[in-house]
Order: sequence, then structure tokens, then C-alpha cells
Amino acid sequence: MSSRLDALTAAISELELDALLVTNVVNVRWLTGFTGSNAIAVVGAGTPRFVTDFRYLTQAAEQLDELWLREISTELLRRAAEGLPTGRPLRLGFDDAQMSVKQHAQLVEIAPEGVEPVAAGGVVEGLRAVKDADEIEAIRAACKLADDALEEVLGAGLVGRTERDVALELEIAMRHRGAQDVAFAPIVASGAHGALPHAAPRDVEIAAGTLVVVDWGAQLDGYASDCTRTFATGDLDPGDRAVYDLVLLAQEQALAAVRPGPTGKEVDAVARTIIEQAGHGEHFGHGLGHGVGLEVHEGPRLSKQGSDPLAAGNVVTVEPGVYVPGAVGVRIEDLVVVTGDGHEVLSGISKALRTVA
Ligand code: ZN
Ligand code: ZN
Repeated sequence: MSSRLDALTAAISELELDALLVTNVVNVRWLTGFTGSNAIAVVGAGTPRFVTDFRYLTQAAEQLDELWLREISTELLRRAAEGLPTGRPLRLGFDDAQMSVKQHAQLVEIAPEGVEPVAAGGVVEGLRAVKDADEIEAIRAACKLADDALEEVLGAGLVGRTERDVALELEIAMRHRGAQDVAFAPIVASGAHGALPHAAPRDVEIAAGTLVVVDWGAQLDGYASDCTRTFATGDLDPGDRAVYDLVLLAQEQALAAVRPGPTGKEVDAVARTIIEQAGHGEHFGHGLGHGVGLEVHEGPRLSKQGSDPLAAGNVVTVEPGVYVPGAVGVRIEDLVVVTGDGHEVLSGISKALRTVA
């Protein structure tokens, strides 16, 4: 964890800040290893400080490195601000993407003389986008657990079970294998319902001869996995099969472009161009992918807005989809690590169209 503190300290000085208030609890976890739900870290301007409430006194002592000065308070922000050095100008970065308007007003009011709050959201998130070896291993383990859980559920077949039943069994199978939680509520969407990218599982039996989109992930040691496969439940309508083949082609081509260098936008364009040229551009309404780590959606983005070049250590999804309203939906999603010269796929289940009756 101390290398993360070093990286953040360097980022703070690069931004010409004297200190940074880390108020997002996920960022605090990444930085300190603390897994509780209420804490603020202050980095820069002397010894790094960590403020939590009395419930976490023991847990913080166990989880934090000794280099952190631990403080207990019922008013975290006040304690964090009041402990800042006084008597000289101090540019204090705060997370403007996360801090509420109310908290910001409080910060301005209680900041000691000379402290200038400066909007600095996204600093920790930028560092979190590049995973270290331990984080990659945690995500790899979450992927494997989720894959094994799905295989178990598929073993009981799909036809005649409700979407809700399959989703629930998948949650249970992940929990049985040691997942702390699901990374997100699983999506199980059959037939035309698959055309809703964020479909909620219904109390509807899955029919034979259709496609079923399954998007699921586990949370393990704080880290998420995220994968989607689309299965057939019998002989398919040739139009549905063609959509599957198109999405698979777009997915594989975009995946082949994942390596350090290209921007998220450029990789997104690889899949988007293939889908557009097949006449389905309007049916691919979301970005190609997103980073995954402590949160299931984090940086970098693989989309039209993805301006950052991919870097070794990024863990991203590659998940094109085609959604024809009222007719058919297909999404295929892999979770991959960007390596020094390419990528490594963490998702283990084959993408060749598979029939599960
Ligand atoms: Zn997903
Ligand atoms: Zn995803």
C-alpha cells in the first residue's frame, strides 16, 4: 500500500497541490487497505492522516500501515480539515466529483486560515486505473469463481426455467464459492428481452430456440469481475444467428486491438465500425467497455469519450452488443488485462455459440 501512497504523493505535487482530501471510501480503501464504510484520508502536508469513527478503531489499527496517523472523530471532515498545518498558504485538493455541495460549504467554512480548497476530482481514480499484480490476481480469482458458478448453473439447463430463477441460482452459486457479494445483480434475458442492455430478470420461462444473454460478476476480496455470454437454447432463427456472428466478430476484432497505446475511443471504433457496416450501428447504443477493479465501472472508458491511451495494468471489458428492439439482443463481454505488449483475457468461458437446452 505504501507504493500507492508514493504514487499519490507524486500526483499531488504534479497538480501543484500541497495536500489532497480523499473522501471517497473506495479511494480510501485503495490507498490504505481499510475496508470500513466511513473514513477520510489526508495526503500531503506532513504525515499522512486517516480519520474514521469510533466503530472502526480496532479495524483501522489492524488494516492500516503504521505510517498513517490514525484519528477518531464523529465529524470526519472537520477533524481532517482542522488537522491541516496553519500559518502558510496551502492548496488543498478535494474530490469535486464526489463531495456534496453541503460538505463543500462546510469545508470552506472550517478550513484553517490560508487553506485554499481546490477542485481535484479523479486523481485517485486515475491511479486506480492501473492495477498492480495483487489487484490483477484478485480480479482473476473473481473471474474464475464467476465462471465456475455459471457452469454449475448451466448444468441444470435453461429451457423451462425462469430468468429470475437462473439469476438467483447464479447468485447463490457465486456466494457458495466464496464471493462476498455479486458485483452487480446478474442479467438473464431471453428472446426479445435480451434487446434491453440492462434487462431485469423476469418471472418468464426461457423458451427453446432462442438466445439468452447472461451478464454476471462476482465480488471477491473487494474486487469485481464482469463477463457476458449469450447462449442458444436450440436451433436458432438464421437472423438471430447472424446477429450473434456479427457481435462475435466485432468483439474479437476489438479485443485484438487492446494493447498499450490506442485510446479507448480508437478501440471502441474498431467494434463500432464493424457493427455499423453491417447496418446495425443504431443498435449498439453503449460504449465498448469500461475499467473494472474495486468498482465494476471505473476507468478507463472504452467509448467515444475515451480519450486516454490504454496502458499496461488497465483491466477493461470488451463488450459490444446489438439490440434490435422487440426482436433480439446479443452481447459478448470479456474482461482483459492490458499487458506490456498486448492483453490477457481473464474470462474463461468459450465465445463460440453454445447451445444450452
Ligand atoms: Zn457485464
Ligand atoms: Zn461490463
